[in-house]
Order: sequence, then structure tokens, then C-alpha cells
Amino acid sequence: MHERVSFNIYGHLENILQTLSNYGVPATFFITGEMANSHPRIPQRICKNDHEMASHGHSHKSFSEVSYAEAEKEIAKSIKVLSRFQEVKGFRAPFLVRNKATYLACEKLGLSYDSSEHGLKKYCPNGFKVTVLPVLSPLDTHGLDLLGLRARELVARWLSQCGRSSGAAICMHAWRIGRKKYVKTILEPLLRSNLTFVKACELLCKDGIALTFDVEYTSLGDSFSSISLLMPREKKTAESFVSHVP
Ligand SMILES: [Zn+2]
Repeated sequence: MHERVSFNIYGHLENILQTLSNYGVPATFFITGEMANSHPRIPQRICKNDHEMASHGHSHKSFSEVSYAEAEKEIAKSIKVLSRFQEVKGFRAPFLVRNKATYLACEKLGLSYDSSEHGLKKYCPNGFKVTVLPVLSPLDTHGLDLLGLRARELVARWLSQCGRSSGAAICMHAWRIGRKKYVKTILEPLLRSNLTFVKACELLCKDGIALTFDVEYTSLGDSFSSISLLMPREKKTAESFVSHVP
């Protein structure tokens, strides 16, 4: 278990919360149980601002090959922590990867939705009650590096995809979008658009776009490979070295 976060999570979170509040827009924060456990101020601040909190697993381990029992255990642990602050209705798998055992675990644990794959339209997978709320691609601000986009272009792409969507999420990471420069160049233009933003759980009964932020521990080990793989042009400052992609 990690003991600390390697980025300024409180400062980043406040930048995001303040900006959402300025525009009167609700959002959903997918948080790991570990993060909420060690930093209860994070769920407290999110709940105080009337945003939704949902599960991002407990330890941010991958769900790509988990058994049903493992998936249930990992999600249940996170729900136990998060439900001290708010009822939990949804789940997003770390790295946006999960298997069918994960749907079953979500249903068994009483969750209503899963937001762990790319796409434009919400749907119910065959044989399951859980609703899949997909994530628009390109994912997160990684698009800036992966696709060589400028911030304005990334937002324009998101907006055009949102226009074709009948219920999907935009996934951002608190560690990155919360930096002041990204709040200004990415979050604010999105909020100024004419889109209807709702909490992810509200997409179960209406259409709209959910702004979502994943909050998890960062780890130095992951960041070296991620930075070299995904951000070859970014200057390797001390901060970028401790940034974590998924
Ligand atoms: Zn994550």
C-alpha cells in the first residue's frame, strides 16, 4: 500500500472544484478505496460540493484477468470505504480494462453502472442489468501527447464526439487536469460549451455528458514507463516524473 501521493492532489482538486462551482456544473469522481481511506479530506470535499463519488477499485489493480471472487472483493473493499461518505452507484476499472466477471461483481454489489470502456452511447450488455456508460476517446489529456494535439483541438474533438453521443463520459485525471494551466485551457472551454453536463449516475435516466475525474495514487515505477511511452516530447521535469498515466 502506498503511503503518500506524489502530486499536489489537494491543490489540484481545489482547482477543479472551484472551476466546476464557477460554472455550476456537477461531476463524478472515481476514487480508489485506498485514496479515500488515507486522504478522507478528498471525499469530504467532493461530497460537500454535491458531486458524485464512485468506485475506481480499491488498490488500482488491473481487472483484465480477475476472477469473479477477486473482482467482488476489490470493488467491495472500495465501496466499504466510499460509502462512509456517499452511496456508491458506479464503478470504473483502472486503466479502463475489465472482464465480464466485473459486470457480475458490480451487479452482485448493487451497483447500477460501469464506466470502463470507450464508446459514444450507453447500453446494457446482454444478460446484465448493469448499464455501461462509455468514455469518449481520445482519453484524457493524454490526447495532447499521443495525438500531438493542442488543447484547443482536443476540446474541439471532445465536443464533436459529445454531439454524436447519447450518454457518455469524458474521463480526466485529477493529477493532470487539476493543474492550473489545464483547468484554463481544457476544463473551462468544455464548461463554456452548450452541453448538458450531468453526474454519471444521472445518465441512467437521461441523456447528457458526464465529466469524470479519476483520483488514485501515483507511483514512480509506473510513471517512468508511461512517460517514455506516451509523452516523449514532454520535458521530464521533477513533476512529470511522478505523474502517472492511467
Ligand atoms: Zn485510474
